[in-house]
Amino acid sequence: MSMVQTDSFADPEMGEPFLLTPGPLTTAFSVKQAMLRDWGSWDGDFRAMTKSMCDQLVVMAGDTRSEFVCVPMQGSGSYCVEALLGTFVPRDGKVLVLANGAYGLRAAETMRYLGRAFTLIDKGDYMPPRGDEVAAALDADPAITHVIAIHCETSSGILNPIDEISQVTYARGRKLLVDSMSAFGAIELDVEKTRYEAMVSSANKCIEGVPGFGFVIARKSELESCKGNSHSLSLDIHAQWANLVKTGQWRYTPPTHVVAAFIEALRMHAREGGVEARGARYTRNRDVMVAGMRELGFETLLKDRWLSPIIVTFFCPAHRNFVFSTFYELMKAKGFIIYPGKLTVVESFRVGCIGRMDEHIMRRVVEAAGECLEEMDVDTAAPPAEAIAERAKLAA
Ligand SMILES: *Cc1c(COP(=O)(O)O)cnc(C)c1O
Repeated sequence: MSMVQTDSFADPEMGEPFLLTPGPLTTAFSVKQAMLRDWGSWDGDFRAMTKSMCDQLVVMAGDTRSEFVCVPMQGSGSYCVEALLGTFVPRDGKVLVLANGAYGLRAAETMRYLGRAFTLIDKGDYMPPRGDEVAAALDADPAITHVIAIHCETSSGILNPIDEISQVTYARGRKLLVDSMSAFGAIELDVEKTRYEAMVSSANKCIEGVPGFGFVIARKSELESCKGNSHSLSLDIHAQWANLVKTGQWRYTPPTHVVAAFIEALRMHAREGGVEARGARYTRNRDVMVAGMRELGFETLLKDRWLSPIIVTFFCPAHRNFVFSTFYELMKAKGFIIYPGKLTVVESFRVGCIGRMDEHIMRRVVEAAGECLEEMDVDTAAPPAEAIAERAKLAA
């Protein structure tokens, strides 16, 4: 096995395909290498790693006044969303859930499991929830205490208007919680520019770590008031935080190797130039990939204004020879794992722009897609008329 240099964008080791998916994603060799050591969770070295990680994440969120704290939580991102809602929403609170895709709907489902009150604005597959509708919903229902919004709705790739949502939420005296799972680290969510009480993200998205935990960045004064809210012992963010403050340790076994990998990922994130540089690389990945795919005749679900630099949804071509499962396997054989789409109306697929990849790799993705079309004998990637009609519903 050859050792690749740590900062390259070369192919993953041992012929692994690139993961053009929104996490788990392609990670750097050095990130994987950081896991080749065992750590004692109670030991001072690991406690220092946890502290350093949390300190860096709070800085990444733009907190210069030490008003925010970071609390890591074991599990995948959804565990952390559940922990967030269970901890920050009082048992007699009520949440306005803003959904335009699978993750918004999952937040609503989580509220249903929690047995706490919520109302849902469901915009369908991708239409963005706008400030005026949020305002109207809040005005109509004084019982609503919190709003939860999805920053980048990964199921379509849309970047939702968080600033607009934050402004109307606080103008009406309510509190905002944000699922920034697939955006944090690449798209600014600065606590001093966009007001919110707490946001959640995870190790395996834009910071380019491996899966195993997530983290909540919360206004300290708000978190302090959340004691006793949680329905769940293991998902109680307040209790996890109190224990961290008291002992420097996570409650219950932390994913030590994953944390070590994440710290290496944070080092690479800083070295690249932080959130801005990470976002710029992903934006370039998207621009190169989308331009190339459009040249092949593929069309994006979203108009440019709504495209995130995280993941892009394309309509499947209308051509009768196009079969997504065949396209998927052919792409995989060329070293690229793409992602099925989640639209209910027309067939689609997604291509992620995040992970240890740059524009040169995205050019190869486009080349591979072109070759796959040829191999499938599809001479045009143009989508069906229904797809174009669907897209016309979305304002520019
Ligand atoms: C990835 C993601 C999650 C969490 O999904 P898991 O599969 O539980 O990690 C939640 N919300 C958004 C917007 C995501 O992209």
